[in-house]
Amino acid sequence: MIDTETGQLAIKGGPKSVTKTFPWPIYDETEVQAVANVVRSGQWGNPDCADEVARFEQAFAAYCGSKYAVTCVNGSVSLRLALIACGLRPGDEVIVPPYTFIATASVVLEINCVPVFVDIDPQTYNLDPACIEAAITEKTKAIVPVHFAGLPCDMDAILDIAQRHNLRVIEDAAHAHGAEYKGRKLGSIGDAGSFSFQSSKNLTSGEGGIVITNDDALYETMNSLRNVGRLPSGQWYDHFNPGCNYRITQLQAVLLSEQLKRLDEQTITRNENGLYLDSLLADIDGITPLSRGEVAILHCYHLYIFKYDKTKFGQVPKHEFVAMLAAEGVPCSAGYPHPLYKQPVFQQKNFMCYAIPESVDYTQVYCPEAERACADEAVWIFQQAMLGTQGDMESFAQAIRKIQLAL
Ligand SMILES: *Cc1c(COP(=O)(O)O)cnc(C)c1O
Repeated sequence: MIDTETGQLAIKGGPKSVTKTFPWPIYDETEVQAVANVVRSGQWGNPDCADEVARFEQAFAAYCGSKYAVTCVNGSVSLRLALIACGLRPGDEVIVPPYTFIATASVVLEINCVPVFVDIDPQTYNLDPACIEAAITEKTKAIVPVHFAGLPCDMDAILDIAQRHNLRVIEDAAHAHGAEYKGRKLGSIGDAGSFSFQSSKNLTSGEGGIVITNDDALYETMNSLRNVGRLPSGQWYDHFNPGCNYRITQLQAVLLSEQLKRLDEQTITRNENGLYLDSLLADIDGITPLSRGEVAILHCYHLYIFKYDKTKFGQVPKHEFVAMLAAEGVPCSAGYPHPLYKQPVFQQKNFMCYAIPESVDYTQVYCPEAERACADEAVWIFQQAMLGTQGDMESFAQAIRKIQLAL
């Protein structure tokens, strides 16, 4: 047996199991040159010089197999533009999962609508289709499935429910660039798909977002809203819609165009490493990787998530285990400590919008699977670590075994 497996824990001063670091973002002179060329051209911004922005939008739409793409300042605004374009009215209800980044639910508040939290499937941590119908009322207008960690939601079931209840489906694909469900790119399956290019995401320009769609009317509205309500047919001084300046710069666009060329190879590496790590962790008592489901998928592992069972680790609580694992050199986190509805904005009704009925009360919301994931089970390994080698995956598994033996 390798001595790090039986050695003293790194958190107590012993040797680390993983000594490598995992850089992100990945770039070389190609990105530097692309940005430098834009700087030298003086064509930094929109809307008069937007050729690089348009080029990236076309490339990303084509990459996803969608007709249109609209870039904007971030992945929260892209989600919001999609919801507005879908025609949601104040007081309408939107179904969202409680195990996600705040933006998925807060953009619903921002458009004066009501987020309705539906629990996650404990096998995948994605919206559980079996729980959706019970949450649908006559006010429900849309579902926002989040492909959490880059693992596809059960889109067949979600689209079936949406069709039967005449609901819009807006995919929050902020974790899911390049991932696939039954051969289709995530984000291209619902009415619209929203992505973030924030620094931690699998495709990044530091900040940024994009929304893709096949729907002509949605595209026209979103395109107008992100450009101060202008229309391509109007003059620069004509404003047809209550939009804002949500445009990105040409510097971001060329960075994204170069990063997009790297995405497929990175996604394949993460997917293969994920499958290999699944096989390694399956052998460790008390560690259960999330299920990849029954249908063909390409998982882009924005996060690699496994479930931790403290009863097999000397009753050590999850956050202590994660501190030990991080000290061993595994880039990891315990994730969200609470489901979203526990945030003060919901508990204290700090909505700052006035179309939400008084009767809406998030203190009564309880999603047991999301609670369990947050408090006891979910451990995240970050995407850049999934770009490592098979040997790196072995070292992650070894770090977990070392902790188990020491407890
Ligand atoms: C990052 C993220 C967003 C929002 O993206 P920003 O670019 O940070 O605004 C939305 N949803 C999810 C699930 C995210 O992780």
